Amino acid sequence: MIAESRLSGILCSGANAAQAVWVCGQAGCNSYGMACGDRKCGCMAPHRGHQMFMIDGLDATLSAPPLLSEDGVALEKSINAVIDDCIAELQRLKRSHSDHVTAHAESRHRHTVLKRKLLRREPMELR
Ligand SMILES: [Zn+2]
Ligand SMILES: [Zn+2]
Repeated sequence: MIAESRLSGILCSGANAAQAVWVCGQAGCNSYGMACGDRKCGCMAPHRGHQMFMIDGLDATLSAPPLLSEDGVALEKSINAVIDDCIAELQRLKRSHSDHVTAHAESRHRHTVLKRKLLRREPMELR
């Protein structure tokens, strides 16, 4: 019934190769691990007495996001702090560079005004 509600897309090793519902989790089992669960099917015999898991459950386990250890979480946090500091420092550098460019443009502008006054023979302000 479960196999009908969600097909695994994996076939068992039986002569009729039905949709597998179970996977063998028995340590040391060397037989093909996917089984359909039908007692009459040949795929089940090698796993008699073996610990079997539903493929659906295995899918959920394999799909779960990996969890970090406490050390891993702490490491991620400290590296994120270093990256945040770098970002803040680069933003300060960007502002400083922008201020420098503005100051440079203003100094060029003063020179341009002087040049224009000279070329037009405008009165100079002597200080
Ligand atoms: Zn089978
Ligand atoms: Zn087995």
